[in-house]
Amino acid sequence: MPLMSSTIDSRLQHIYKLVLRRNPGESEFHQAVQEVLSSLGPVVDRQPHYLAERVIERLCEPERQIIFRVPWTDDHGQVQINRGFRVEYSSVLGPYKGGLRFHPSVLLGTVKFLGFEQIFKNALTGLPIGGGKGGADFDPKGRSDGEIMRFCQSLMTELYRHLGEYTDVPAGDVGVGTREIGYLFGQYKRITNRYEAGVLTGKGIAWGGAQARTEATGYGTVYFADEMAKHVGSSLQGLDVVVSGSGNVAIYAIQKVQQLGGRVVACSDSSGYVVDEDGIDLELLQDVKEVRRARIATYAEERGGKSRFVRDGSVWEVPCQVALPCATQNELDEDAARTLVEHGVQVVAEGANMPCTPGAVHVFTDRGVLFGPGKAANAGGVATSALEMQQNAARDSWSFEHTEERLGEIMRSIHGRCVDTAEDYGRPGDYVFGANAAGFIQVADAMLALGVV
Ligand code: NAP
Repeated sequence: MPLMSSTIDSRLQHIYKLVLRRNPGESEFHQAVQEVLSSLGPVVDRQPHYLAERVIERLCEPERQIIFRVPWTDDHGQVQINRGFRVEYSSVLGPYKGGLRFHPSVLLGTVKFLGFEQIFKNALTGLPIGGGKGGADFDPKGRSDGEIMRFCQSLMTELYRHLGEYTDVPAGDVGVGTREIGYLFGQYKRITNRYEAGVLTGKGIAWGGAQARTEATGYGTVYFADEMAKHVGSSLQGLDVVVSGSGNVAIYAIQKVQQLGGRVVACSDSSGYVVDEDGIDLELLQDVKEVRRARIATYAEERGGKSRFVRDGSVWEVPCQVALPCATQNELDEDAARTLVEHGVQVVAEGANMPCTPGAVHVFTDRGVLFGPGKAANAGGVATSALEMQQNAARDSWSFEHTEERLGEIMRSIHGRCVDTAEDYGRPGDYVFGANAAGFIQVADAMLALGVV
């Protein structure tokens, strides 16, 4: 079922129709394109040459899409076959840059939606990185370390030929952390006989990784939410916060909220959520999720007191003033948004990519809730990846404090660009418009400068 296109300016409708026709069944990709196109009417009013030069059509078509077989052998000697993807979307601002996702739900359309978002997010960082994304329909849950390693080696045996520090630089995403990046980098190094540290980011600190990269997306999202609150004369201090997920982004978002004086009262995983009126005990959560890789129910069992586990429930039922969706796409729908509004939510910032459905975003913006879209609010991860590339190129390594300071500056700058662009177009406080327009204009101008390529 194609999404409604009524919010798209009539001069851009034909582009959306072309995207639907060329990419059948890829609903998440349609949704991501629709979200950006819905902001571009006022932009092409001012800059009609973007239409004449067909910049938007060009941007909707990835520069290159790679699909390949990933055969590997499991611990029982059984041959397994997965499908690998890399969508090299836009290299107009720098080498393709974006993570790899390992999850059974990954299809070409998933990777295209993430790659499309990545182009504008990376532009907003102000750093020289293009947009790309990749992954595989591999389910790492329950797999042994040896199986994960063999899978990563097989994937890289095909992918390496498309990568390079000046060409395409993947990182982690859902299901891909430092362990997987290690196995991928080891295989790349073995095949190419080059210690090309800048070919992958999210590396371990001891072998070329950047301090604060692990924390960067979650920290950056909270910095962004705090800037949003400060912009209207408030802050996160003393507020109740709900964070969805309990993976990489969620855990470090919780940590930064606590450092800034907020209280995280609930978080989740795909089995349900935990509420903890005393505030989430981060040390226990990290032990359960990062060390033991257990389910979130274990947290409530071991924490006791006022904490409880709710199986299969929606974490958005828990009252809060700040909501940080940090789990997955389309996890927060219109009904959940209404519940949050009824409970008095003031700020929503997307730590995950496209976690709020279009209906939910409409509810928030309609009811005056400050809403920070993912391509701005979660750009801290890729920004710190670009800082990792800088350090690799200079054979340098920075301290945690210095890297975090740079991250904070970048998030404040992204916030400022969104605010200024929205105000410039007479839409103060519209972060969706500000992020889409500011990111798009930078990419479009660079495309025009580089000619028809
Ligand atoms: P992750 O470490 O794999 O964590 C994902 C978390 O979300 C897990 O706790 C997972 O639970 C949970 N989850 C998945 N589906 C869920 C659902 N339907 N309901 C509730 N919880 C659910 O991944 P991540 O790196 O934190 O990434 C999370 C999101 O942030 C993704 O959208 C990703 O694209 C985006 N992002 C990540 C980065 C980064 O640097 N990592 C940067 C920018 C954006 P289970 O363990 O039960 O599956």
